[in-house]
Amino acid sequence: MKNNNFKLGNLYIIATPIGNYDDISKRALIILNKVDYILAEDTRKTGLLLKYFNIKKKLYSYYEYNEKKKANFFLEKIIKGLNLGLVSDSGTPLINDPGYRIIQLCREKYINIKIIPIPGPCAAILALISSGLPTNKFCYEGFLPHKKNKRIKRLNELKKEYRTLIIYESTHRLLKCLYDIKKIFGKNRYIVLARELTKKWENIYGSNISNLIKWIKLDLNRLKGEIVLIIKGYISYSINDELSPKIIKTFLNLKKELSTKKAINITSDIFSVKKNLLYKFYIKNKY
Ligand code: SAM
Repeated sequence: MKNNNFKLGNLYIIATPIGNYDDISKRALIILNKVDYILAEDTRKTGLLLKYFNIKKKLYSYYEYNEKKKANFFLEKIIKGLNLGLVSDSGTPLINDPGYRIIQLCREKYINIKIIPIPGPCAAILALISSGLPTNKFCYEGFLPHKKNKRIKRLNELKKEYRTLIIYESTHRLLKCLYDIKKIFGKNRYIVLARELTKKWENIYGSNISNLIKWIKLDLNRLKGEIVLIIKGYISYSINDELSPKIIKTFLNLKKELSTKKAINITSDIFSVKKNLLYKFYIKNKY
């Protein structure tokens, strides 16, 4: 598919399924069929996908460790007018997958190259939207550090993150990671484990961290497969877990008769809860 109208080719970033091949979009298939070359993280894995859809296309491997080296080579092809499609092993390229380097280079140096994203599955977003946790503000953390001391340090930095937190985790580190989260975030923080999304053994389970660990230990199969963790943000956690229904009811009753400030002061005195927690509750719920 030589681009005859423009001198330059296009670079398509194409999302592919995260388990269920039927999730591929019609547009992704059209573009995969049309591009001149496909840049794949693992040519064998992408080869299987293409075979399933009966697409025959030359593949180039493009992964974390050769990204920098190969970016210029691929850009030269685009400059010559060839259209390239960038895919990863699964889901949305660049989301914990290679591709950043070539896109950055295009944006910085070859601003006339058209970068065209083709939307599709992303494990982080699927886990988030099915978690029941706030989706209006969220924070994508990707993988936590593998080494314990670095992981603990990072978790301490994230402890007071008020947005819903998205973490990718591998099956063999999951328990260690959950114990660390429990230690730093407290046993009551609500967390959702989204496993094997779009696949046969898909399972989405939410609970406080202590119960989640107990639930996993009842059946170690629950550790298996691909996993996303969604953690409740700090503020909504603090409000819901430290303000019991009784405190909230008292505050709301007082609020009917008194100013917000007085209602907060009196509730805080009665139950020894922090005033700013009541204030945040008031702001959040716009009473
Ligand atoms: N680019 C991918 C995306 O769009 O989600 C992410 C690639 S990253 C290298 C792989 C990690 O994504 C896995 O370790 C897991 O945390 C998460 N993941 C990928 N597929 C998943 C699935 N089907 N169910 C749950 N998590 C998944």
